Amino acid sequence: MGISEFELIKQYFDDTVAQKQHADLILGIGDDGAIISPRPNHDLIVAVDTLVAGVHFPVNASPYDIGYRSLAVNLSVLAPMGAEPTWFTLALTLPTAEREWLQEFSRGLLTLAHAHGIVLVGGDTTRGPLTISIQVQGYVPTGQALRRDGAKAGDLIYVTGYLGDASGGLSLLQNPDFTGHDEYLQRRFTEPQPRVSFGQQLRGLAHAAIDISDGLLADIGHIVDRSGLGARIDIEKLPLSSESVSFFGRQQAVDFALTGGDDYELCFCVAPAKVRQLEILAQKFVMPITCIGSIDEKPGVRLYNAQGEIIGIDSPIGYQHFS
Ligand code: ADP
Ligand code: MG
Repeated sequence: MGISEFELIKQYFDDTVAQKQHADLILGIGDDGAIISPRPNHDLIVAVDTLVAGVHFPVNASPYDIGYRSLAVNLSVLAPMGAEPTWFTLALTLPTAEREWLQEFSRGLLTLAHAHGIVLVGGDTTRGPLTISIQVQGYVPTGQALRRDGAKAGDLIYVTGYLGDASGGLSLLQNPDFTGHDEYLQRRFTEPQPRVSFGQQLRGLAHAAIDISDGLLADIGHIVDRSGLGARIDIEKLPLSSESVSFFGRQQAVDFALTGGDDYELCFCVAPAKVRQLEILAQKFVMPITCIGSIDEKPGVRLYNAQGEIIGIDSPIGYQHFS
């Protein structure tokens, strides 16, 4: 390997400055485990996600992008719960330890960590096919975490940002004939922006929230299943970027928005009485939010066209086009 495990951790992952900035971190990297003094009057949110080369990112992805993305998808899990990110651990499985690769991977990882004030407090390093597991932790004031099961009939369904861009970007990255334009779409796949601080502001405002990782239909399906309700989605309201529509055409852009994953935007449900408050909040964030439908009592997710006709339904056996 040419580099000992001790040196690897010390040089690339032991972020001493960040660890010192947090008084409730009593002991970080270097011992058998980290010691954390939990924050009073808060609930701890804990989640883990694994990324496997060739499955969750292309094998030829740059090490910077892999590091960034590995943490981004995990931060995105804290966002819809309204959590403030605090700690993470990293289990890194590497075929070989190459300095240049490690340097870039840790730069991608720690750049995003610093931007969100989340601190790496421990991990594990092993040899094998490239796999990254990250466990994240965050705090929510006691009892205030947003969940998938809180939607109410009559709620309006909103999403942040634009949907389908990441799928479009991934399809461009995977196309060997592609010669390099639409960088915006590719960046939407490689550098997702987890909506962490917006998610915290949704506490007490939204009834339920989820991050869009599997695709809008699948993820809104999780909300309605867990809430024992159904949803109406108006296709013509879906927020599509001009890049996605001009590059792929409207039909493909709509399909990417409905079924493509990896956008890491938020989908959330709010009572109509809270819309004004929500709009003021979105203006402060300088971020588009779009109402795409509503929650009702009829099970399943139904898709409507501009004429108010049902054009598709998402059932337990999967998404079916009617047209
Ligand atoms: P152990 O023998 O107990 O598994 P290690 O040698 O794996 O200990 O790890 C030594 C220290 O380095 C521990 O504090 C561990 O949390 C930390 N560590 C190991 N790998 C990583 C990593 N990839 N990122 C961050 N910290 C790590
Ligand atoms: Mg170990």
